[in-house]
Amino acid sequence: MSLQLRNTLGGRLEPFEPLEPGRVRMYSCGPTVYAAAHVGNFRSFVFADLLRRYLGWSGYDVRWVMNITDVDDRIIAQARERGVSIGELTAPHAAAFVEDLARLRVTPPDAMPRPTQHIEAMASLIATLIERGHAYRTDDGSIFFRIASWPAYGRLARLDPTQLRVGERVVDDDYGKDDIRDFALWKGPREGEPSWSTAIGEGRPGWHIECSAMSMAELGSSFDIHTGGIDLIFPHHEDEIAQSEAATGQTFVRTWLHCAHLAMGGEKMAKRTGNIERPADVYARGYSPRALRYALLAAHYRAGLEFSEASLQAAAAAVERLSTVLAALDTYRQDGSDADDLVELLASTRSAFTAGLDDDLNIAPALAVLFDFIREVNRRIDARVLSTADAGIVTSFVGDLDRVLGIGPDSVADGLAPELEALLEARAAARTARNWAESDRLRDELARHGIVVEDTRDGQRWRRLEELHG
Ligand SMILES: [Zn+2]
Repeated sequence: MSLQLRNTLGGRLEPFEPLEPGRVRMYSCGPTVYAAAHVGNFRSFVFADLLRRYLGWSGYDVRWVMNITDVDDRIIAQARERGVSIGELTAPHAAAFVEDLARLRVTPPDAMPRPTQHIEAMASLIATLIERGHAYRTDDGSIFFRIASWPAYGRLARLDPTQLRVGERVVDDDYGKDDIRDFALWKGPREGEPSWSTAIGEGRPGWHIECSAMSMAELGSSFDIHTGGIDLIFPHHEDEIAQSEAATGQTFVRTWLHCAHLAMGGEKMAKRTGNIERPADVYARGYSPRALRYALLAAHYRAGLEFSEASLQAAAAAVERLSTVLAALDTYRQDGSDADDLVELLASTRSAFTAGLDDDLNIAPALAVLFDFIREVNRRIDARVLSTADAGIVTSFVGDLDRVLGIGPDSVADGLAPELEALLEARAAARTARNWAESDRLRDELARHGIVVEDTRDGQRWRRLEELHG
């Protein structure tokens, strides 16, 4: 079996096949940086990262692009309210977003374009749409996409193309468009708003054209995968398809994937209603970024997910189980022959893990098989039926599966700082010399550096304090 994905366009489960063999080009709609992103926003980015990691792990060479929207109506309104420029408003939020992504171990995208740096590309795309008869100007210098010129409009969201547009994030009736369904590609200059002087005139881009221009600039006019939250299906992605395909005459994107909402207290997490929690709030309560990542990852991306103290506690316990088994394997020493069935166990675990993810990134069976495997490893450690060599093989195996999940302890990837290694060695020496006072002193010293030490029959075992939860 190979990877199957549920394409929003058509609604069917389809075998994934990239346009270019061995290479995947994917784009994810990123944040609009007028305020700090919340945990609900990050669900969609963690999902895109799971896909990106799984494609890479499966052997594809992946190019992943995520935009950061740094000009739109909400940004302009917020900047005006605060009396700052849009750049002054967005720069710190964009930096904090990138930092939050890194803490959640989201693979750094290969490019993170900003619309304010791609104005010319947008203007030229709009010029093509005017030339081809898909766009028109209004008296105030704005330019609209003419829905009536594009009969395929509504295929993604499965809309009746004659129906009125609903859910538009801004009412732009006052720009004088011909048809209420038409959407703004370009907004004419207005007092107190940022604007750019371009080949199509003075003004600023509409939100939808930003993603079309930037994705095609980075990935070509036809690419494999486009992701986003379900609220972006309409109108944002519908508009992206219309304006991109009308301009190029080519299929814009082959596979569209949409992540469901995160809920808290039964209500969708959304800035508009104030029902939000930010990653920093979660960390302040003692949960690690790994636990938060796990909590966001643990449900299938198309299923609604309830975010709660209970889901965080379960996530913290799961990542701790993973840390604990790896710490145990690290110190485990047992002479003896290797188990006959280990190769078989690794192969069946890996194939069940892959089968889950191949099924439209169905994460629950993939996690279940990993934790079943960990339970079996713990059993063998306790029964001392694992050889030292096999313990090393199991560690590499778990590390390999974790390249997809990104929930393992840092220690596996990063090792310890040399000064902490030295403290651990000094403590081991103190114990050998039965100098308990010194050994306790060194344990406290390590604890101050966030390292928890336990003594086992295989010697001392350590893990990072940040993996514990409060
Ligand atoms: Zn977008």
